[in-house]
Amino acid sequence: MTKFIFVTGGVVSGIGKGISAASIGRLLKERGLSVFMQKFDPYLNVDPGTMSPFQHGEVFVTKDGAETDLDLGHYERFIDEELTKRASITTGKVYSKVIAKERRGDYNGATVQVIPHITNEIKNAVYKAAKESSADVVITEIGGTVGDIESLPFLEAIRQIHSENKKEDVLFVHTVLVPNIPGSDELKTKPTQHSFKELMSNGIKTDVIIIRSNGVVTEDLREKISLFCDVPVDAIVQSKNVDLIYEVPLVFHKQGLDDYILKELGLTNQPPSEKKWQKMVERFKDLDKEVTIGLVGKYVGLHDAYLSVYQALQDAGCENGAKLNLRWIDAEEVEEDINVLKGLDGIIVPGGFGSRGTEGMILTSKFARENNVAYFGICYGMQIALIDVARNKLGLKDANSTEIDPETNNPIIDLLENQKDIKNLGGTLRLGNYECSIEKDTLASKLYGEDKIFERHRHRYEFNNDFRGQIRSAGVEFSGINEDNDLVEIIELKDHPFFIACQFHPEFKSRPTKVHPLFDGFIKAALTK
Ligand code: GLN
Repeated sequence: MTKFIFVTGGVVSGIGKGISAASIGRLLKERGLSVFMQKFDPYLNVDPGTMSPFQHGEVFVTKDGAETDLDLGHYERFIDEELTKRASITTGKVYSKVIAKERRGDYNGATVQVIPHITNEIKNAVYKAAKESSADVVITEIGGTVGDIESLPFLEAIRQIHSENKKEDVLFVHTVLVPNIPGSDELKTKPTQHSFKELMSNGIKTDVIIIRSNGVVTEDLREKISLFCDVPVDAIVQSKNVDLIYEVPLVFHKQGLDDYILKELGLTNQPPSEKKWQKMVERFKDLDKEVTIGLVGKYVGLHDAYLSVYQALQDAGCENGAKLNLRWIDAEEVEEDINVLKGLDGIIVPGGFGSRGTEGMILTSKFARENNVAYFGICYGMQIALIDVARNKLGLKDANSTEIDPETNNPIIDLLENQKDIKNLGGTLRLGNYECSIEKDTLASKLYGEDKIFERHRHRYEFNNDFRGQIRSAGVEFSGINEDNDLVEIIELKDHPFFIACQFHPEFKSRPTKVHPLFDGFIKAALTK
């Protein structure tokens, strides 16, 4: 029997609802429960795959190839589970399904309406996640803020789930901001009271309130919220500002949140907390070195665009006793002045799309190659490194990706055959897990310690196999290959201390409690510089 927790947000967005949801997931895992998490995004896009990183931040990819909200990255890192497409539902997806059913004639002549047809589809998404994952608890975060027009059908659906299940099987958690009025230094509960009412007007009475506030939440304040919002004082916890987001589960645990939730869900026989997470957080407090990494990309103004890469680097740093000092370097700045790359212990060129900044990235690869600086290329970062080698070691001056220059005579990187007549941009990249075989006696095999791996992809272009012989002659080793389609997955340089790049996105599989081997190897190499 699966239990359901629904996390809603009130007052304003951007107060860490995703982290709160993920933290609850972590706490329950630490108490011996299996957890599945999902996010409902009320926007009309089918998925964020076609949105600009400036709009949306990173697009996270699940193993089965769903392009999702970056909160899923938090979920996976916190609960250490690989989620699936069931974890990401949008209004666009729900409506597309209902309209397709209507066109097929599945509704037997009924008038198709928001209630019950849209809400049924939303409820199905929750129940299917429970069935497929067979998790003890499914945690569902509702994106947006209570009161938004777009979230109404989602709220109605979870209200129905509450009424059609036993009381102890469904729990509502509401996250709010309690603002501090500058000058008087007073914390104000009124927005919380209004948000509570708004939720009530949708038929939902919250069981737990999580307060985000940078002030001191006193017992009096809790009692006031308890009185106005009809929840026990024990069910009100503060999410205070922390230096490290991984501290949030511990902050909640200290206030007894896991015990409270377990009691409400009737799960009273769970073992005490495992403390695995706590040990990891303690390691972060005890770092005696620093590692300076340059991240060269085109969206560096918005750090969220590289969220999983950032987390993986930070976690790999911690694993090696080093605090991450990340320098965000705009690839276009490298074009103007290569000296911005000086003084780095390691350089990472992560994923990206389009041509802006690519010349700077190619110069970055050349710089790392020629100066023996540890280089780690991810997706575009691999394609870029191969263009650099073709241009600067083989003398193919116009070598390029056809994404950047469709007319090049040396298309080192080109569209896959099956991508050539694709019309729709949404959902048509090479997505999700593909197998990769690792060559023996390579850096990749040393790092992975395995000969077959699965990694997640998100790209449309590939290394052009016509150039394999030439590129190999320039000192590049093709150390990872997808044998089914004969595609290059990992490359490395033989005569360099650490130069490795992959076509896939290893950042999506890295965990604070289990750092990805490529990130670990990269940080180790940077530290031994
Ligand atoms: N733009 C490149 C491609 O589509 C790389 C994509 C990426 O870095 N995620 O193949």
